Amino acid sequence: MISFENKVALVTGAASGLGFATAKAFAEAGAAVALADWHEKEVQASAKELADKGYRTLAIACDVSDDAQVEAMVKKTVAEFGRLDFAYNNAGIQNVLAETADVSRDDYDRVMAVNLRGVWSCMKFELQVMREQGSGAIVNCSSLGGLVGGNRRGTYHAAKHGVIGFTKSAALEYATRGIRVNDVCPGLIRTPMSDRMEAEGQGEALKTMCEQFVPMQREGRPEEVANTVLFLCSDLASYITGQSISVDGGFVMR
Ligand code: NAD
Repeated sequence: MISFENKVALVTGAASGLGFATAKAFAEAGAAVALADWHEKEVQASAKELADKGYRTLAIACDVSDDAQVEAMVKKTVAEFGRLDFAYNNAGIQNVLAETADVSRDDYDRVMAVNLRGVWSCMKFELQVMREQGSGAIVNCSSLGGLVGGNRRGTYHAAKHGVIGFTKSAALEYATRGIRVNDVCPGLIRTPMSDRMEAEGQGEALKTMCEQFVPMQREGRPEEVANTVLFLCSDLASYITGQSISVDGGFVMR
C-alpha cells in the first residue's frame, strides 16, 4: 500500500473520469489534494465529496489553456498546502472527427490549446515549485493515441504525441534534480468522455475496437489508470523517468 502522508498532489481535469479517480486515490493514500477543473461547480462538488470523507482537499477553477489561470492554480495549491509533491496533468478534450484535409483551424487550435499547450503550461509552473524544492514527480496524461496514428483524430493524436515529447524532455532536464516526469497512455477506459463518444455515434466503433484489438477483451476502469499514476509518483518508481506507461489491456501490442 502506497502512503502519501504529508504529501501534496495537484490533479487537473479532476471533476470527472480519470482525474477524479486519481484525486480520490491520492486522497486515500494520505495526500492533501488540489482538484482543478474548468467546470467550477463540478470540481467543487468533487472536492466536497472527498472532504466529506475526511480528506484534505482544495477545489480550484482553472482552464489549463490559460497560462495566468494555471500559474494561479499552482500558487493557490502551494499557498494552501505549503508545497507540491505530485502533479497529474490530466485535463483533456476530444477533437471533432474529421480527416486531415477537413480539420478546421478552430478545432485544431482548441484541441492543441488544452491537450498540448495546457500540459506544457502546467509543467512550467509546477516545475518552478519542484525545482525550488529539489523534489517532485509529474505524470502527464497522454493516450494510446500518443503512440499510434488515428483515423479522423489526427489533431488529438498529434497533441498526445506532443505530450510524450514534453515528458521525455522535462525528464532529461530534471533527472539529476530529484524530479521525475512520466506519462500514462490510457487505452479504452470507461469515463464520461467515452460516454459522450458513444452518444455522438462512436459507440459501435468503440465496441468493435474493444473486441478486435484489446487482448484483455474489456474496457479499463478509471481506478486502473489512477493506480498507475500513484505508482509512478511513489518511491516504488524511484528509478523510472521519461517513460510512457500504457494502461490499455494490451491494445498497443496490436
Ligand atoms: P472526462 O471528460 O471524463 O474528464 C476530463 C476532465 O477534464 C473534465 O472534468 C473536464 O471538465 C476537464 N477539462 C477539459 N478541458 C479542460 C480545461 N481546458 N481546463 C481544465 N479542465 C478541463 O475525460 P477522461 O476520459 O477522464 O479523460 C481524462 C484524460 O484522459 C484526457 O486527457 C483524455 O484525453 C485522456 N484519455 C482518456 C481515455 C479514455 O478512454 N477515457 C483514453 C486515453 C486518454
